[in-house]
Amino acid sequence: MSKLSKILSFESCGKCRVCCGFVEDDKWEIPLIFREYREKVEEKLGVRLIPRGQEFVFDMNFNGSEIVHCPALSENGCTLGDLKPFDCAVWPFRVNRLGDFRVITVSPVCETVFSLPLKMLKEFVNSDGFADTLFAEADKHPDMVKPYIDGYPILAVQK
Ligand code: SF4
Repeated sequence: MSKLSKILSFESCGKCRVCCGFVEDDKWEIPLIFREYREKVEEKLGVRLIPRGQEFVFDMNFNGSEIVHCPALSENGCTLGDLKPFDCAVWPFRVNRLGDFRVITVSPVCETVFSLPLKMLKEFVNSDGFADTLFAEADKHPDMVKPYIDGYPILAVQK
């Protein structure tokens, strides 16, 4: 799979962390913890996860527009290491449902990646099996497929 570090430096990512904070309106963006990792994540962080579809998410309390950070976030970034959720490992790319199709989009919330030329993003997503990996993971974990949001650039369409 293509490495995100090809288009997003570790430094830019570490300084920002916008993707690790959520407000009530975007709680649908909380990363899914796949069921096979549930126990390990609960044990590592000492938290209880709650079901979402067939998978799990962190149990976070929201208060309108107040930003609530992911319980796995520390001063030094994500503490989950190899247990980092797939959603986070491939963010700002997402698999979305658009009618009868599944598509891969890029979230404008990640300003660094979103500011790159669309051509470059398309090449990245469609090279080294990145799109295939996302679609294959979505086959195994359909809850990770979110509805398409108008205006999000479409970088790949399921073949
Ligand atoms: S699991 Fe890690 S990368 Fe994902 S939102 Fe939480 S802290 Fe950020």
